[in-house]
Amino acid sequence: MEHNTDIKSLSLDELKNAIGKLGEKPYRAKQLYEWMHVKLARNYDEMTNLPKGLREKLAEQYEYTSLKEVAVQTSKIDGTKKFLFGLADGNIVESVWMQYHHGNSVCISSQVGCRMGCRFCASTIDGLERNLTPSEMLDQIYAISRSTSGRVSNVVVMGTGEPLDNYDNLIQFIHMITDGNGLNISQRNITVSTCGIVENMRRLAEEKLQITLALSLHGSTQAKRQELMPVANKYEINEVIDACRYYFDQTGRRVTFEYSLVGGVNDTDEDAENLCSLVGGLNCHVNLIPVNPIKERDYVESERRDILNFQNKLEKRHINATIRREMGRDIDGACGQLRRRHAQAMRSPVQY
Ligand code: SAH
Repeated sequence: MEHNTDIKSLSLDELKNAIGKLGEKPYRAKQLYEWMHVKLARNYDEMTNLPKGLREKLAEQYEYTSLKEVAVQTSKIDGTKKFLFGLADGNIVESVWMQYHHGNSVCISSQVGCRMGCRFCASTIDGLERNLTPSEMLDQIYAISRSTSGRVSNVVVMGTGEPLDNYDNLIQFIHMITDGNGLNISQRNITVSTCGIVENMRRLAEEKLQITLALSLHGSTQAKRQELMPVANKYEINEVIDACRYYFDQTGRRVTFEYSLVGGVNDTDEDAENLCSLVGGLNCHVNLIPVNPIKERDYVESERRDILNFQNKLEKRHINATIRREMGRDIDGACGQLRRRHAQAMRSPVQY
């Protein structure tokens, strides 16, 4: 999809320009933007206060991104919903809706597939198919808002894909989802999670946004990280931590470290000690995630005792650490497993 033909990826200023070129008045751009980004219209036909002629002209010249709900699963434990959405080209992405006391949170995908190759992650097994456009990222939230009839107050870019490997589209998406003329979600309620692409972490810091940066660390030494994350062959662990420090210095935002605990791999006392030395002194928060075993790999979750012990070790050194609540465990695990299962089912229906 050409960027300039994808109308829902245009900012309000860009849209005003486009509408001007069609010989229309600027207020039409405002109306159109509101239909797309506030009223969350599914197509041009719903935009009843726009003249039919204009709607036809738009339909001829601009693609209108509207994701198709292919499947939804609802957790019986906590009400978490996982959505599979079909894109215009037939690709499928996965998004998750979670209810918390402080509001509703949506986890979106940023790419179809992923090329980062983290060993324990299901999203990367078939590699990267393509980047998502800003409108495809927005529409995951729009489609979920319509389906759940509730306001989304938090967005985490932690679904399939590496957001900093799709940098420009990510930034456009963030500007649009936080725009006062759109859903107006607070920047502070947006988290972008990266496996650690250093130059783009630094670029992001310089955007001076108030979003939270989460770094997937998963190993507390260069060697341990390399075992689990091929990206660590490109960026040395200290460079990555320096980029986190830079992010904090530029934005004043506390960085989150994600650390998936893998039984017998990165959950020992020594691992905890190394982690303390690595991040001590940094204004940060550590999120411990019991690894979600995927059937393609033989990694196992750490023992509960080891997880609590690991957290304890960090807290003793005054490093703020929480164990992530596992939402929707009963509905196909997290991290690309739902999409993968769906894709496999389509290839061989007997397994479904
Ligand atoms: N590419 C980005 C965002 C997507 S993954 C990143 O790497 O941060 C979101 C988080 O889930 C990352 O911390 C990732 O390492 C983690 N993750 C992926 N698969 C997992 C699994 N099977 N169990 C636990 N965490 C996993």
